[in-house]
Amino acid sequence: MDHILTVNNLKTSFLTSSGEVQAVRGISFHLDKGESLGIVGESGSGKSVASMSILRLLAQTGRIREGEVLFGGADLTKVNTRALRSIRGKRIAMVFQDPMSSLNPLIPVGDQVGEMLWAHTGLDKRARTERVLELLRTVRIPEPEQRLNSLPHEFSGGMRQRVMIALALACRPEVLIADEPTTALDVTIQDQILKLMRSLQAETGMSIIFITHDLGVVAELCTRVVVMYGGLILEEAPIDELFDRPMHPYTMGLLDSVPGAHQDKAARLTPIPGSPPDMTRPPEGCPFAPRCRYARNLCAAQRPPYFHPGEGRRSMCWLLHDDAPSAGNPFKGGRIG
Ligand code: SF4
Repeated sequence: MDHILTVNNLKTSFLTSSGEVQAVRGISFHLDKGESLGIVGESGSGKSVASMSILRLLAQTGRIREGEVLFGGADLTKVNTRALRSIRGKRIAMVFQDPMSSLNPLIPVGDQVGEMLWAHTGLDKRARTERVLELLRTVRIPEPEQRLNSLPHEFSGGMRQRVMIALALACRPEVLIADEPTTALDVTIQDQILKLMRSLQAETGMSIIFITHDLGVVAELCTRVVVMYGGLILEEAPIDELFDRPMHPYTMGLLDSVPGAHQDKAARLTPIPGSPPDMTRPPEGCPFAPRCRYARNLCAAQRPPYFHPGEGRRSMCWLLHDDAPSAGNPFKGGRIG
């Protein structure tokens, strides 16, 4: 399978009054053509910073310290602003949680989608209007001819998110990055939007990175998932294998937090006891050690390397080392509790 996007050893920090927040501390992953990859983690895990780093959409205090983002033969961490602008929105598009912060409240939605086309395509006004209508139909907005001149506040939350998806699809992007796009919506509308995204992916063949704290959402849409914590990827697996046989205590905690979650793909994440690490002074060893019921002395002292417990799988946990003891080791038949 061809990789459409490759992230290598990405490190992103923010300068704050309390020091340098090391939000992303060296992550590597790839996205295949036409696949849908989930990036899952609690708030503060670094998942959104990772996605914003891809298009260099960081706050002013943010810096990519190291690493590369390879797309279309270029490293997006190094291309000039003009080249990056020609990629943003056109070849890689984003959808965020809150459509109201991305839509202009004073401009009719038809004009906003039309402006995106005007900025990135050579279409004349009539062709643009046709394409706007086609896009609104694609995202299943009823009676689009009547909605062209409506303002964002005249749409429901779910319909506004559909408008955002129409905007993102306007230039037929190769990659769509969706950052918690359904979090603010109720469950029924969320389900409709996920179904819409799945069918749009099938129709267009685009690749999707779906960032979420919600394992249920990942199960609906993604074929592969990476689990982030403390600015690192702790586990990667095909989605079914992650649910059936998690190979990292953090992932197990995420799944165990809902009874029967191993079997129930609609399960949602609930917080694991304890709090995420202070990223101004991230732990030297395993970032999950202070919350991990299996932690040993080595865990806090030294960061584990990746172990590969199956094809397409990796896990950053000392328990997978060949020489790790079996007693009390959930990956060697000794699960506790
Ligand atoms: Fe727990 Fe140690 Fe594995 Fe980290 S490396 S998840 S602390 S057992």
